[in-house]
Amino acid sequence: MKYIEIAKTYEVLEKTSSKIAKTDILTELFKKTPTEDIEKVVLLIQGIVFPKYSGLELGIAIQMMIKAIARSTGFSVEKVEEMFKKTGDLGLVAENCIKEKKQASLLKKELEVEDVFKNLQKLAYLTGEGSQDKKLNLIAELLSFSKPQEAKYIVRTILGDLRVGVAEGIIRDAIAKSFLPEGKESLEILDYALNIYPNFGEIAKISKENGLKGLKQIKVKLGQPIQVMLGEKAESIKEVIDEFGKVAAEYKYDGMRAQIHKDGEKIWIFTRRLENVTKQFPDLVELCKKHIKAKKCIVEGEVVAIDEKSSPLPFQILSQRIQRKYDIEKMVKEIPIQINLFDIVFLDDEMLFDKKLKERREILEKTVEQKQGKFMLAKQIITDNIKELEKFYKEALNAKQEGIFLKVLDSKYIFGRHVGGWYKIKPTMETLDLAIIGATWGTGKRAGWLGSFILGCRDEKTGKFLECGMLGTGVKEKKTKETDITFEELTKILKPLIISEKGSNVRFKPKVVISVDYQEIQVSPNYESGFALRFPRFVALRQDKGPEDVDTVERIKYLYELQKKTKK
Ligand code: AMP
Repeated sequence: MKYIEIAKTYEVLEKTSSKIAKTDILTELFKKTPTEDIEKVVLLIQGIVFPKYSGLELGIAIQMMIKAIARSTGFSVEKVEEMFKKTGDLGLVAENCIKEKKQASLLKKELEVEDVFKNLQKLAYLTGEGSQDKKLNLIAELLSFSKPQEAKYIVRTILGDLRVGVAEGIIRDAIAKSFLPEGKESLEILDYALNIYPNFGEIAKISKENGLKGLKQIKVKLGQPIQVMLGEKAESIKEVIDEFGKVAAEYKYDGMRAQIHKDGEKIWIFTRRLENVTKQFPDLVELCKKHIKAKKCIVEGEVVAIDEKSSPLPFQILSQRIQRKYDIEKMVKEIPIQINLFDIVFLDDEMLFDKKLKERREILEKTVEQKQGKFMLAKQIITDNIKELEKFYKEALNAKQEGIFLKVLDSKYIFGRHVGGWYKIKPTMETLDLAIIGATWGTGKRAGWLGSFILGCRDEKTGKFLECGMLGTGVKEKKTKETDITFEELTKILKPLIISEKGSNVRFKPKVVISVDYQEIQVSPNYESGFALRFPRFVALRQDKGPEDVDTVERIKYLYELQKKTKK
């Protein structure tokens, strides 16, 4: 299949806002895609060339892309930079440069999907000495064969910023419409397959080749993460007990969710966003090899940083280990961890999703050998006694954990949030998880740094992010402790996410999530959400959370109402 077909589809998708229309456009594309290309086409539509959890990155910075565009089109680097400043989109710049290309390419060749896909994959494998030059050559070569429209999307794909607005839900619907019989059953089977095997490319291929029959045969693959089960917030312990009676209560630990896969001596660790963090946690890998008795399994737990007395430390401390890609051994010594396991979903080739929670816990107990302070089962009590549960909740808070989970004993493992089964009880004046959606360039001493960060909460109905406060406090000018986050560091993280700039004000894609505490919530006509946080303060960078985890405007409203009641 020719790559121009994909480029044309991107172009139409970009101009279409309706979800139904986007689904139809993709259905048309998927249907006409030959079987040998379908996997690649689906990934390219997602804007990627490896499944998200592979941990492989193309590793191309803006500056290198500017050079590649200049080299392949004959424009000067300065000119390309100037065009980039005007549009903020190197894809558009590449398109325009190729349209006005100064040097005609000698070789004429139409790009195949296969060519683009393989070459983009190659970028990730080029490492070590001289790799930057090789990458530059590879991109320049690809661009020199591209038509303007193709160049636009090749550049955007490489930079991880496709801008065509296709969420996973739309791709899932298009796969169903293209290859499966109409109806609820198909969607249920497809969803299940995507949850236990979240590779949209492969799932599309299986659907195309073998339909529902093929999807039903899919099994978990060790080394490839599954989607996780999450909890929903309950307003009180009583409410949950009234509905379900006896429950399993567990500490809600303040750390990082770890999905651990074991296949013989091989261990993988994934976050809740299915990112591979195995390299960052060699100590956990060793603990798993030693203390998991099964040959093959998937267990889940919460990793917590601990002090020398094995007491848990807040998430900010652990956070440094998640983001760290070098000096890992040093970090292992400086920030020791423990894990508290709470689930098992796969054992010796058997999937356990349909087993009841209490059965899974029993299996987990038999599968691992605990080591005090390091490798443990999550603290759990089973009761319907509210007083006992309240005591347990206080104990969890005193142990500096976030609260407790109340888990329904008979519940299956269901993927996602709001699925019933797990209910969390947390204090109300907790921190909020918000997205950074805007900021201002600093002046004077802070020139070159972003500051005055605009916070956004999520509107569940529209999927938009609405302003709810402005934050400067808590972010540091200088690093005095390892846990400090500086303006410089935040600037580095946010800069590639800029979508527009007006004067000194910038807007970002809502990708960076931070935990924020505050003194009070106020009603505010000045902010789109209708609420403003008073004195918000930066608490932690949540690289383990994504835009879908950002607190909603409904939650802020609820907290506001509650605060009104408690003030009276
Ligand atoms: P939240 O981040 O508030 O949606 O809560 C869900 C997260 O709580 C999970 O992704 C886990 O990382 C974490 N967690 C901590 N303790 C437990 C536990 N005992 N059971 C399940 N999840 C837990």
